[in-house]
Amino acid sequence: MDSAHLGDDLDHVLYTQEQIHARLEELGKEIWADYHDKEVLLVGVLKGAVLVMADLMRALPGTVTMDWMAVSSYGSGTKSSGVVRILKDLDTDISNRHVLIVEDIIDSGLTLNWIRSNLLSRNPASLEICTLLRKPEAAKVEIDCKYVGFEIPNEFVVGYGLDFDEKYRNLRDIGVLAPHMYS
Ligand code: 5GP
Repeated sequence: MDSAHLGDDLDHVLYTQEQIHARLEELGKEIWADYHDKEVLLVGVLKGAVLVMADLMRALPGTVTMDWMAVSSYGSGTKSSGVVRILKDLDTDISNRHVLIVEDIIDSGLTLNWIRSNLLSRNPASLEICTLLRKPEAAKVEIDCKYVGFEIPNEFVVGYGLDFDEKYRNLRDIGVLAPHMYS
């Protein structure tokens, strides 16, 4: 879906699909420089990271494997529930594996902090994080994130896998949702 089809649902487009793809290609090069001699397992967090994973893994020029986790963090609104629960666990045993978490967005950081501790308790050989978007002003916990696509203002964004009430995930661009959509 293109932003032009959304009427006034969006306040403005933040990043076009071309800008997103170009940045993921760059991140892919950085990641491959660090992992080319290791077997990296990409761990995606459903559902928001689906498109980031799809494009990032194709930007990596060698063999990688992937697995998925689903956790609950947000309800149907735009506020964190503060409760994290595993809805779907990994299929892979990650002990002694080099794990790279692939995320769509870090907002308060609470969800990812929880996931990080949970995965660390499984004794991976290494654990790093890649996120397409990060909101530095919204951070409630500091998370050491090695690969960041874009730092964005503290606004609610949709598109490129990110939803509002399960909608807009198929928007090609990333845009700021117009406040009248959720107020
Ligand atoms: P955090 O725990 O870092 O506050 O946020 C965790 C999850 O909330 C993210 O993985 C994402 O699913 C959702 N989230 C946070 N900020 C936004 C946003 O601006 N837009 C959308 N669509 N989801 C968000």
